[in-house]
Amino acid sequence: MTFASLGLDEPILRAVGEQGYSTPTPIQAQAIPAVLAGGDLLAAAQTGTGKTAAFTLPLLHRLSQAQPARNSRGQVIPRVLVLVPTRELAAQVAENVRDYGKHLKLRCMVMYGGVGMQPQVDALRRGVDIVVATPGRMLDHHGQRTLDLSGVDTLVLDEADRMLDMGFIHDIRKVLALLPPKRQNLLFSATFSDEIKSLANSLLDRPKVIEVARRNTAATTVLQTVHPVGRDRKRELLTHLVRENNWFQVLVFMRTKHGANRLAEQLRGDGIGADAIHGNKSQGARTRALADFKSGKLQVLVATDIAARGIDIDQLPLVVNFELPNVPEDYVHRIGRTGRAGAEGRAISLVCVDELRFLRDIENLIGRPIERTLVAGFEPDPQERAQPIRVGRTVIGGGKASGPRRGDAPRGGGAGHGRGDSNGQSRGGAGRRDGQQARRDGGRGQGRGAAPVRRNGTTG
Ligand code: AMP
Repeated sequence: MTFASLGLDEPILRAVGEQGYSTPTPIQAQAIPAVLAGGDLLAAAQTGTGKTAAFTLPLLHRLSQAQPARNSRGQVIPRVLVLVPTRELAAQVAENVRDYGKHLKLRCMVMYGGVGMQPQVDALRRGVDIVVATPGRMLDHHGQRTLDLSGVDTLVLDEADRMLDMGFIHDIRKVLALLPPKRQNLLFSATFSDEIKSLANSLLDRPKVIEVARRNTAATTVLQTVHPVGRDRKRELLTHLVRENNWFQVLVFMRTKHGANRLAEQLRGDGIGADAIHGNKSQGARTRALADFKSGKLQVLVATDIAARGIDIDQLPLVVNFELPNVPEDYVHRIGRTGRAGAEGRAISLVCVDELRFLRDIENLIGRPIERTLVAGFEPDPQERAQPIRVGRTVIGGGKASGPRRGDAPRGGGAGHGRGDSNGQSRGGAGRRDGQQARRDGGRGQGRGAAPVRRNGTTG
Protein backbone atom coordinates (compact mmCIF):
# COMPACT_ATOMS: atom_id res chain seq x y z
CA MET A 1 0.00 0.00 0.00
CA THR A 2 1.15 3.55 -0.69
CA PHE A 3 0.09 6.93 0.69
CA ALA A 4 -1.08 7.87 -2.83
CA SER A 5 -3.50 4.94 -2.87
CA LEU A 6 -5.17 6.38 0.24
CA GLY A 7 -6.32 9.36 -1.82
CA LEU A 8 -4.29 12.11 -0.15
CA ASP A 9 -3.54 15.30 -2.06
CA GLU A 10 -0.27 15.80 -3.90
CA PRO A 11 1.17 18.50 -1.55
CA ILE A 12 0.62 16.14 1.38
CA LEU A 13 2.16 13.20 -0.48
CA ARG A 14 5.16 15.38 -1.30
CA ALA A 15 5.61 16.35 2.36
CA VAL A 16 5.28 12.73 3.47
CA GLY A 17 7.89 11.72 0.89
CA GLU A 18 10.20 14.41 2.21
CA GLN A 19 9.84 12.91 5.68
CA GLY A 20 11.17 9.69 4.18
CA TYR A 21 8.00 7.65 4.72
CA SER A 22 7.35 5.18 1.93
CA THR A 23 4.58 2.99 3.33
CA PRO A 24 1.70 3.82 5.68
CA THR A 25 1.96 2.15 9.08
CA PRO A 26 -0.95 -0.17 10.01
CA ILE A 27 -2.78 2.53 11.97
CA GLN A 28 -2.36 4.96 9.09
CA ALA A 29 -3.65 2.43 6.57
CA GLN A 30 -6.82 2.01 8.62
CA ALA A 31 -7.35 5.47 10.07
CA ILE A 32 -6.69 7.64 7.01
CA PRO A 33 -9.63 6.31 4.93
CA ALA A 34 -11.87 6.38 8.02
CA VAL A 35 -11.06 10.00 8.82
CA LEU A 36 -11.41 11.03 5.17
CA ALA A 37 -14.87 9.44 5.17
CA GLY A 38 -15.84 11.80 7.98
CA GLY A 39 -17.03 9.45 10.72
CA ASP A 40 -15.97 9.19 14.35
CA LEU A 41 -12.98 7.07 15.28
CA LEU A 42 -11.81 5.20 18.35
CA ALA A 43 -8.21 4.11 17.90
CA ALA A 44 -6.10 2.09 20.31
CA ALA A 45 -2.57 2.93 19.36
CA GLN A 46 0.54 3.64 21.32
CA THR A 47 3.07 6.32 20.60
CA GLY A 48 5.45 5.04 17.98
CA THR A 49 2.80 3.51 15.76
CA GLY A 50 2.58 6.58 13.53
CA LYS A 51 -0.71 7.69 15.09
CA THR A 52 0.00 11.42 14.73
CA ALA A 53 0.24 11.20 10.96
CA ALA A 54 -2.77 8.85 11.02
CA PHE A 55 -5.04 11.72 12.05
CA THR A 56 -3.02 14.68 10.77
CA LEU A 57 -2.69 13.66 7.12
CA PRO A 58 -6.41 13.13 6.40
CA LEU A 59 -7.37 16.24 8.39
CA LEU A 60 -4.92 18.36 6.40
CA HIS A 61 -6.40 16.89 3.24
CA ARG A 62 -9.96 17.75 4.31
CA LEU A 63 -9.04 21.24 5.49
CA SER A 64 -7.24 22.05 2.27
CA GLN A 65 -10.26 20.98 0.20
CA ALA A 66 -12.64 23.40 1.94
CA GLN A 67 -12.75 27.14 2.53
CA PRO A 68 -11.36 28.52 5.81
CA ALA A 69 -13.87 29.21 8.61
CA ARG A 70 -14.22 32.91 9.47
CA ASN A 71 -15.87 34.84 12.26
CA SER A 72 -18.03 37.93 11.74
CA ARG A 73 -14.90 40.09 11.56
CA GLY A 74 -13.50 37.94 8.78
CA GLN A 75 -10.78 36.39 10.96
CA VAL A 76 -9.82 32.80 10.14
CA ILE A 77 -10.91 30.66 13.10
CA PRO A 78 -9.93 27.07 13.96
CA ARG A 79 -11.68 24.15 12.31
CA VAL A 80 -9.63 21.44 13.99
CA LEU A 81 -8.93 21.22 17.72
CA VAL A 82 -6.37 18.67 18.90
CA LEU A 83 -6.27 18.20 22.67
CA VAL A 84 -3.21 16.58 24.23
CA PRO A 85 -2.11 16.00 27.84
CA THR A 86 1.28 17.73 27.93
CA ARG A 87 3.20 20.67 26.53
CA GLU A 88 5.81 18.38 25.01
CA LEU A 89 3.22 16.39 23.14
CA ALA A 90 1.50 19.60 22.02
CA ALA A 91 4.77 20.93 20.61
CA GLN A 92 5.51 17.61 18.96
CA VAL A 93 2.10 17.22 17.33
CA ALA A 94 2.18 20.83 16.08
CA GLU A 95 5.63 20.23 14.62
CA ASN A 96 4.32 17.17 12.79
CA VAL A 97 1.31 19.13 11.51
CA ARG A 98 3.67 21.80 10.16
CA ASP A 99 5.94 19.19 8.56
CA TYR A 100 3.11 17.37 6.84
CA GLY A 101 1.32 20.59 5.90
CA LYS A 102 4.34 22.55 4.73
CA HIS A 103 3.14 22.71 1.12
CA LEU A 104 -0.36 23.80 2.12
CA LYS A 105 -1.65 27.22 3.05
CA LEU A 106 -2.99 26.14 6.43
CA ARG A 107 -1.99 27.62 9.76
CA CYS A 108 -1.43 25.63 12.91
CA MET A 109 -0.72 26.93 16.38
CA VAL A 110 0.24 25.33 19.65
CA MET A 111 -1.39 26.47 22.87
CA TYR A 112 -0.12 25.46 26.30
CA GLY A 113 0.41 26.97 29.71
CA GLY A 114 3.63 28.01 31.40
CA VAL A 115 4.35 30.59 28.69
CA GLY A 116 2.85 34.04 28.06
CA MET A 117 -0.69 34.33 26.69
CA GLN A 118 0.05 37.28 24.40
CA PRO A 119 1.97 35.53 21.60
CA GLN A 120 -0.86 32.96 21.48
CA VAL A 121 -3.46 35.72 21.37
CA ASP A 122 -1.51 37.38 18.52
CA ALA A 123 -1.37 34.11 16.60
CA LEU A 124 -5.13 33.64 17.01
CA ARG A 125 -5.71 37.17 15.71
CA ARG A 126 -3.64 36.47 12.62
CA GLY A 127 -5.87 33.48 11.91
CA VAL A 128 -5.47 29.77 12.63
CA ASP A 129 -6.93 26.62 11.05
CA ILE A 130 -5.63 24.02 13.51
CA VAL A 131 -5.10 24.43 17.25
CA VAL A 132 -3.05 21.88 19.20
CA ALA A 133 -3.65 22.55 22.88
CA THR A 134 -3.50 21.31 26.43
CA PRO A 135 -6.98 21.58 27.95
CA GLY A 136 -6.29 24.15 30.71
CA ARG A 137 -4.75 26.82 28.52
CA MET A 138 -7.40 26.26 25.86
CA LEU A 139 -10.09 26.93 28.45
CA ASP A 140 -8.19 30.03 29.62
CA HIS A 141 -8.27 31.42 26.09
CA HIS A 142 -11.92 30.65 25.71
CA GLY A 143 -12.64 32.30 29.07
CA GLN A 144 -10.82 35.43 27.91
CA ARG A 145 -12.71 35.38 24.64
CA THR A 146 -9.51 35.18 22.65
CA LEU A 147 -10.46 31.83 21.12
CA ASP A 148 -13.54 31.39 18.95
CA LEU A 149 -14.57 27.73 18.87
CA SER A 150 -17.65 28.20 16.71
CA GLY A 151 -15.85 26.96 13.58
CA VAL A 152 -14.52 23.72 15.06
CA ASP A 153 -15.82 20.75 13.08
CA THR A 154 -13.22 18.19 14.19
CA LEU A 155 -12.00 17.29 17.65
CA VAL A 156 -9.01 15.02 18.26
CA LEU A 157 -8.28 13.70 21.74
CA ASP A 158 -4.73 12.38 21.60
CA GLU A 159 -3.39 10.13 24.37
CA ALA A 160 -6.80 10.30 25.96
CA ASP A 161 -5.91 7.68 28.58
CA ARG A 162 -3.12 9.89 29.78
CA MET A 163 -5.41 12.89 29.92
CA LEU A 164 -7.77 10.95 32.17
CA ASP A 165 -4.86 9.73 34.31
CA MET A 166 -3.82 13.32 34.79
CA GLY A 167 -7.24 14.34 35.99
CA PHE A 168 -8.33 16.23 32.88
CA ILE A 169 -11.76 14.66 32.60
CA HIS A 170 -13.58 17.74 33.91
CA ASP A 171 -11.66 20.01 31.56
CA ILE A 172 -12.44 17.69 28.66
CA ARG A 173 -16.14 17.74 29.50
CA LYS A 174 -16.04 21.54 29.69
CA VAL A 175 -14.39 21.73 26.27
CA LEU A 176 -16.96 19.35 24.78
CA ALA A 177 -19.76 21.59 25.99
CA LEU A 178 -18.18 24.56 24.18
CA LEU A 179 -17.85 22.93 20.77
CA PRO A 180 -20.43 22.95 18.00
CA PRO A 181 -22.42 19.71 18.42
CA LYS A 182 -22.10 18.63 14.81
CA ARG A 183 -18.52 17.54 14.39
CA GLN A 184 -16.16 14.64 13.79
CA ASN A 185 -14.51 13.18 16.90
CA LEU A 186 -11.31 11.16 16.89
CA LEU A 187 -10.17 9.52 20.11
CA PHE A 188 -6.68 8.02 20.39
CA SER A 189 -5.63 6.07 23.45
CA ALA A 190 -2.85 3.59 24.26
CA THR A 191 -5.20 1.51 26.39
CA PHE A 192 -8.95 0.89 26.54
CA SER A 193 -9.71 1.28 30.23
CA ASP A 194 -13.28 1.42 31.51
CA GLU A 195 -12.91 5.19 31.86
CA ILE A 196 -11.88 5.49 28.21
CA LYS A 197 -14.80 3.30 27.17
CA SER A 198 -17.18 5.50 29.11
CA LEU A 199 -15.72 8.67 27.57
CA ALA A 200 -15.95 7.07 24.12
CA ASN A 201 -19.58 6.09 24.73
CA SER A 202 -20.55 9.64 25.60
CA LEU A 203 -18.45 11.32 22.92
CA LEU A 204 -18.44 9.17 19.82
CA ASP A 205 -21.22 8.44 17.37
CA ARG A 206 -21.00 4.92 15.90
CA PRO A 207 -17.20 5.11 15.75
CA LYS A 208 -14.98 2.96 13.61
CA VAL A 209 -12.80 1.07 16.07
CA ILE A 210 -9.17 0.48 15.19
CA GLU A 211 -6.79 -1.47 17.35
CA VAL A 212 -3.28 -1.87 16.04
CA ALA A 213 -1.42 -3.00 19.11
CA ARG A 214 -3.46 -5.41 21.17
CA ARG A 215 -4.84 -4.02 24.36
CA ASN A 216 -2.13 -3.50 26.97
CA THR A 217 0.40 -5.44 24.92
CA ALA A 218 3.96 -4.22 25.17
CA ALA A 219 5.42 -3.43 21.77
CA THR A 220 6.62 -6.69 20.32
CA THR A 221 9.61 -5.08 18.65
CA VAL A 222 11.13 -4.21 22.04
CA LEU A 223 13.59 -6.63 23.59
CA GLN A 224 12.95 -6.46 27.33
CA THR A 225 15.37 -7.45 30.09
CA VAL A 226 15.38 -7.20 33.86
CA HIS A 227 18.69 -6.87 35.72
CA PRO A 228 18.10 -7.78 39.37
CA VAL A 229 20.33 -5.57 41.54
CA GLY A 230 20.73 -4.38 45.13
CA ARG A 231 18.76 -1.31 46.13
CA ASP A 232 21.84 0.85 46.66
CA ARG A 233 23.82 -0.30 43.66
CA LYS A 234 21.54 0.78 40.83
CA ARG A 235 23.42 3.95 39.95
CA GLU A 236 26.74 2.11 39.93
CA LEU A 237 25.23 -0.55 37.67
CA LEU A 238 23.81 2.05 35.29
CA THR A 239 27.15 3.82 35.03
CA HIS A 240 28.84 0.45 34.44
CA LEU A 241 26.39 -0.46 31.67
CA VAL A 242 26.59 2.92 29.94
CA ARG A 243 30.40 2.79 29.95
CA GLU A 244 30.78 -0.90 29.17
CA ASN A 245 28.39 -0.81 26.23
CA ASN A 246 29.16 2.74 25.14
CA TRP A 247 25.45 3.50 25.22
CA PHE A 248 24.18 6.70 23.64
CA GLN A 249 20.71 8.22 23.61
CA VAL A 250 19.59 6.36 26.71
CA LEU A 251 16.27 7.50 28.13
CA VAL A 252 16.19 6.68 31.85
CA PHE A 253 12.93 6.67 33.81
CA MET A 254 12.42 7.67 37.42
CA ARG A 255 9.25 7.81 39.46
CA THR A 256 9.90 11.30 40.82
CA LYS A 257 11.26 14.67 39.75
CA HIS A 258 13.58 14.76 42.73
CA GLY A 259 14.95 11.32 41.88
CA ALA A 260 15.44 12.36 38.26
CA ASN A 261 17.45 15.43 39.25
CA ARG A 262 19.58 13.51 41.72
CA LEU A 263 20.36 10.71 39.27
CA ALA A 264 21.33 13.13 36.47
CA GLU A 265 23.65 14.88 38.90
CA GLN A 266 25.22 11.61 40.04
CA LEU A 267 25.76 10.46 36.46
CA ARG A 268 27.45 13.74 35.64
CA GLY A 269 29.64 13.11 38.69
CA ASP A 270 30.54 9.78 37.06
CA GLY A 271 31.60 11.64 33.91
CA ILE A 272 28.51 10.74 31.87
CA GLY A 273 26.73 13.54 29.98
CA ALA A 274 23.28 13.55 31.59
CA ASP A 275 20.39 15.90 32.24
CA ALA A 276 16.91 15.59 33.71
CA ILE A 277 13.60 16.56 32.13
CA HIS A 278 10.50 17.05 34.28
CA GLY A 279 7.70 19.45 35.01
CA ASN A 280 9.62 21.67 37.42
CA LYS A 281 12.02 22.66 34.68
CA SER A 282 11.28 25.69 32.56
CA GLN A 283 10.07 25.06 29.04
CA GLY A 284 13.37 26.47 27.76
CA ALA A 285 15.43 24.09 29.88
CA ARG A 286 13.35 21.12 28.74
CA THR A 287 13.60 22.04 25.08
CA ARG A 288 17.37 22.51 25.43
CA ALA A 289 17.86 19.18 27.19
CA LEU A 290 15.81 17.42 24.52
CA ALA A 291 17.75 19.08 21.69
CA ASP A 292 21.08 18.12 23.31
CA PHE A 293 19.83 14.58 23.72
CA LYS A 294 18.66 14.36 20.11
CA SER A 295 21.96 15.73 18.80
CA GLY A 296 23.94 13.20 20.86
CA LYS A 297 25.56 15.84 23.09
CA LEU A 298 23.81 14.29 26.08
CA GLN A 299 24.35 10.56 26.51
CA VAL A 300 21.58 10.09 29.04
CA LEU A 301 18.28 11.85 29.55
CA VAL A 302 16.56 11.15 32.86
CA ALA A 303 12.80 11.68 32.80
CA THR A 304 9.65 11.25 34.83
CA ASP A 305 6.74 9.45 33.21
CA ILE A 306 4.74 12.54 32.45
CA ALA A 307 7.62 14.64 31.15
CA ALA A 308 8.56 11.82 28.81
CA ARG A 309 5.15 11.74 27.19
CA GLY A 310 5.35 13.34 23.83
CA ILE A 311 9.09 13.07 23.47
CA ASP A 312 9.39 12.07 19.87
CA ILE A 313 12.76 10.69 18.96
CA ASP A 314 13.02 8.41 15.99
CA GLN A 315 14.21 4.92 16.77
CA LEU A 316 15.33 5.63 20.29
CA PRO A 317 17.61 2.64 20.84
CA LEU A 318 17.27 2.12 24.56
CA VAL A 319 15.01 2.82 27.50
CA VAL A 320 16.17 2.12 31.05
CA ASN A 321 13.75 1.80 33.94
CA PHE A 322 15.97 2.88 36.82
CA GLU A 323 12.86 2.53 38.95
CA LEU A 324 9.88 0.46 37.88
CA PRO A 325 6.64 2.41 37.71
CA ASN A 326 4.03 1.58 40.36
CA VAL A 327 1.33 1.78 37.68
CA PRO A 328 1.96 -1.11 35.26
CA GLU A 329 0.47 0.74 32.26
CA ASP A 330 3.27 3.28 32.64
CA TYR A 331 5.76 0.52 31.86
CA VAL A 332 4.05 -0.05 28.52
CA HIS A 333 4.14 3.69 27.81
CA ARG A 334 7.79 3.88 28.77
CA ILE A 335 9.00 1.07 26.58
CA GLY A 336 6.86 2.49 23.76
CA ARG A 337 9.60 5.13 23.51
CA THR A 338 11.89 2.61 21.87
CA GLY A 339 11.41 0.37 18.86
CA ARG A 340 9.35 3.08 17.22
CA ALA A 341 7.59 2.53 13.91
CA GLY A 342 8.91 -1.00 13.57
CA ALA A 343 12.56 -0.34 14.47
CA GLU A 344 14.04 -2.70 17.04
CA GLY A 345 14.52 -1.29 20.52
CA ARG A 346 15.57 -2.41 23.97
CA ALA A 347 14.13 -1.83 27.39
CA ILE A 348 16.23 -2.62 30.45
CA SER A 349 14.85 -2.52 33.97
CA LEU A 350 17.07 -2.32 37.07
CA VAL A 351 14.95 -4.04 39.67
CA CYS A 352 15.62 -4.32 43.40
CA VAL A 353 13.78 -6.48 45.90
CA ASP A 354 11.40 -3.62 46.84
CA GLU A 355 10.00 -3.56 43.33
CA LEU A 356 9.23 -7.24 42.76
CA ARG A 357 5.52 -6.66 43.21
CA PHE A 358 5.60 -3.89 40.57
CA LEU A 359 7.41 -6.31 38.27
CA ARG A 360 4.78 -8.98 38.86
CA ASP A 361 1.98 -6.53 38.04
CA ILE A 362 3.76 -5.50 34.84
CA GLU A 363 4.22 -9.12 33.79
CA ASN A 364 0.54 -9.76 34.47
CA LEU A 365 -0.38 -6.80 32.28
CA ILE A 366 1.84 -7.69 29.33
CA GLY A 367 0.91 -11.33 29.71
CA ARG A 368 4.39 -12.82 29.85
CA PRO A 369 7.47 -12.94 32.04
CA ILE A 370 10.42 -10.66 31.33
CA GLU A 371 13.80 -12.34 31.17
CA ARG A 372 16.08 -11.77 34.18
CA THR A 373 19.80 -11.41 33.55
CA LEU A 374 22.32 -10.98 36.35
CA VAL A 375 25.23 -8.67 35.65
CA ALA A 376 28.50 -10.05 37.06
CA GLY A 377 29.60 -8.07 40.10
CA PHE A 378 26.12 -6.62 40.64
CA GLU A 379 24.18 -9.65 41.86
CA PRO A 380 21.73 -8.68 44.60
CA ASP A 381 22.35 -9.91 48.12
CA PRO A 382 19.83 -12.73 48.67
CA GLN A 383 19.54 -11.57 52.29
CA GLU A 384 18.26 -8.12 51.26
CA ARG A 385 14.65 -7.66 52.48
CA ALA A 386 11.99 -5.61 50.74
CA GLN A 387 11.36 -2.13 52.12
CA PRO A 388 8.28 -0.02 51.48
CA ILE A 389 8.32 2.42 48.57
CA ARG A 390 6.79 5.80 49.04
CA VAL A 391 4.77 7.15 46.12
CA GLY A 392 3.26 10.53 46.89
CA ARG A 393 1.48 10.18 50.19
CA THR A 394 1.08 6.45 49.78
CA VAL A 395 3.56 3.90 50.99
CA ILE A 396 3.52 0.71 48.97
CA GLY A 397 5.01 -2.53 50.18
CA GLY A 398 6.18 -3.72 53.56
CA GLY A 399 2.75 -5.32 54.03
CA LYS A 400 0.86 -2.16 54.87
CA ALA A 401 0.18 1.28 53.49
CA SER A 402 1.27 3.65 56.22
CA GLY A 403 3.74 6.46 56.77
CA PRO A 404 7.45 5.76 56.40
CA ARG A 405 9.25 4.11 59.26
CA ARG A 406 12.05 6.01 60.87
CA GLY A 407 15.20 5.57 58.89
CA ASP A 408 13.36 4.53 55.71
CA ALA A 409 14.62 6.56 52.83
CA PRO A 410 11.51 7.94 51.15
CA ARG A 411 11.65 6.82 47.57
CA GLY A 412 9.07 9.06 46.11
CA GLY A 413 7.61 12.49 46.33
CA GLY A 414 4.70 12.15 43.97
CA ALA A 415 4.63 10.06 40.84
CA GLY A 416 5.46 13.01 38.67
CA HIS A 417 1.82 13.94 38.22
CA GLY A 418 1.86 17.16 40.20
CA ARG A 419 0.80 20.49 38.85
CA GLY A 420 4.23 21.35 37.51
CA ASP A 421 4.47 18.25 35.37
CA SER A 422 1.23 18.74 33.61
CA ASN A 423 1.31 22.29 32.55
CA GLY A 424 -0.07 23.36 35.91
CA GLN A 425 -3.36 21.77 35.01
CA SER A 426 -3.48 18.44 36.76
CA ARG A 427 -6.59 18.23 38.86
CA GLY A 428 -5.65 15.54 41.28
CA GLY A 429 -6.14 12.33 39.32
CA ALA A 430 -2.82 10.93 40.42
CA GLY A 431 -3.54 10.56 44.10
CA ARG A 432 -6.64 8.58 43.30
CA ARG A 433 -4.76 6.41 40.87
CA ASP A 434 -1.96 5.74 43.32
CA GLY A 435 -4.53 4.97 45.95
CA GLN A 436 -6.12 2.38 43.69
CA GLN A 437 -2.77 0.86 43.05
CA ALA A 438 -2.03 0.70 46.76
CA ARG A 439 -5.35 -1.05 47.33
CA ARG A 440 -4.62 -3.53 44.58
CA ASP A 441 -1.25 -4.20 46.17
CA GLY A 442 -2.56 -4.47 49.68
CA GLY A 443 -1.76 -7.73 51.38
CA ARG A 444 -0.03 -9.38 48.44
CA GLY A 445 3.29 -11.14 48.56
CA GLN A 446 6.64 -10.12 47.16
CA GLY A 447 6.54 -11.35 43.61
CA ARG A 448 7.10 -14.77 42.16
CA GLY A 449 10.30 -14.72 40.14
CA ALA A 450 8.39 -15.67 37.01
CA ALA A 451 11.21 -15.68 34.50
CA PRO A 452 14.40 -17.75 34.63
CA VAL A 453 17.49 -15.80 35.64
CA ARG A 454 20.40 -15.84 33.26
CA ARG A 455 23.92 -15.05 34.36
CA ASN A 456 25.66 -12.76 31.97
CA GLY A 457 28.66 -10.48 32.29
CA THR A 458 27.61 -7.87 29.80
CA THR A 459 24.51 -6.75 28.12
CA GLY A 460 24.53 -5.81 24.50
P1 AMP B 1 3.87 8.64 16.44
O1 AMP B 1 3.29 7.32 16.77
O2 AMP B 1 2.92 9.55 15.78
O3 AMP B 1 4.54 9.26 17.63
O4 AMP B 1 5.02 8.41 15.34
C1 AMP B 1 6.17 7.68 15.63
C2 AMP B 1 7.31 7.96 14.68
O5 AMP B 1 7.10 7.29 13.45
C3 AMP B 1 7.47 9.43 14.33
O6 AMP B 1 8.82 9.75 14.54
C4 AMP B 1 7.13 9.54 12.87
O7 AMP B 1 7.96 10.49 12.24
C5 AMP B 1 7.38 8.14 12.35
N1 AMP B 1 6.47 7.75 11.28
C6 AMP B 1 5.15 8.03 11.19
N2 AMP B 1 4.62 7.48 10.09
C7 AMP B 1 5.61 6.81 9.46
C8 AMP B 1 5.69 6.03 8.27
N3 AMP B 1 4.60 5.81 7.51
N4 AMP B 1 6.88 5.51 7.93
C9 AMP B 1 7.96 5.72 8.72
N5 AMP B 1 7.97 6.44 9.85
C10 AMP B 1 6.80 6.98 10.24
